[in-house]
Amino acid sequence: MTAEAPAGEVAIEVRGLRKSYGSLEAVRGIDLSVVRGEVFAMLGPNGAGKTTTVEILEGYRSRSSGEVRVLGHDPARRERDLMSRMGIVLQQSGVQQYLTVREVVAMYAGYYPHPRDVDEVIELVGLADAANRRILQLSGGQHRRVDVALALAGDPELLFLDEPTTGFDPSARRQAWDTVRSLAGLGKTVFLTTHFMDEAQALADRVAIIARGQIVALGSPNTLGARGSQATVIRFSLPDGVVPAEELGITRVSGGAWQVQTTEPTRVLHELTGWAVNAQVELVGLEVSRPSLEDVYLALTSEEDQEGAA
Ligand code: ATP
Repeated sequence: MTAEAPAGEVAIEVRGLRKSYGSLEAVRGIDLSVVRGEVFAMLGPNGAGKTTTVEILEGYRSRSSGEVRVLGHDPARRERDLMSRMGIVLQQSGVQQYLTVREVVAMYAGYYPHPRDVDEVIELVGLADAANRRILQLSGGQHRRVDVALALAGDPELLFLDEPTTGFDPSARRQAWDTVRSLAGLGKTVFLTTHFMDEAQALADRVAIIARGQIVALGSPNTLGARGSQATVIRFSLPDGVVPAEELGITRVSGGAWQVQTTEPTRVLHELTGWAVNAQVELVGLEVSRPSLEDVYLALTSEEDQEGAA
């Protein structure tokens, strides 16, 4: 696709990935690279193929074809070295309900050759106050944070988060975002899937928009917002009776409000402000807005025949 991975050591490399379930082709030729230290989000509606892709990367599902390298290994081989360097948060997980948070994290830490300090992990996910509570006493959001803590227990280089905030209330989501940012601050590579545009925008260095098993856009949240056929909108107001030069192609929205849509905002703004300076009129409330990631996402995914699109 369009955006190349930034320079740096590659953590994940995927070429021509395909996965079929019987006659259903759920992943239809995905290419992507994630560099170390990057937060990479795969954004798409229900059934787009996110979980299939992430579980292939984790070594939990087989692929039909294509090349996949994770930290230099083929995850399908499930080598111990690779598995101990990855942290995985599944969409559903079950842990021992009668153990405390600290006990569960300590137990998982014991499975790994170089675990992270247990209390540090608990702190990192924002559960310090609940460290001595039993799992069954926790709220839904706290459960999810335990899942993240378990994925961090082995001090992984690479963390997979499959829809990490689905079902969270707004404050739990913000806390989860802080945790992901802390992980990025520690230099971890994070691969996350999400339905939520704001989540991708808030967390990811780069976003792949996936629809019907294919990546339909790939880039930083900001460059994705600026891409494609969707025009930049320029708006302003003029005093009564003042009309912009006809050749500027600007249309009146109502009263003194004017607007133009363009895929060449630099040129149009130059001509517009040149005209205004010459005519000695102020472009009141001048506003230049680009399509947001949400606009792009909706435009790209609505063209697709998604089952139960988000
Ligand atoms: P969601 O956001 O709902 O989790 P997703 O983007 O993660 O969706 P996948 O779970 O990868 O999508 O599913 C992609 C497609 O493959 C869907 O049509 C789904 O029904 C189908 N699918 C997924 N897993 C299986 C399976 N084990 N057997 C058969 N079909 C499957």
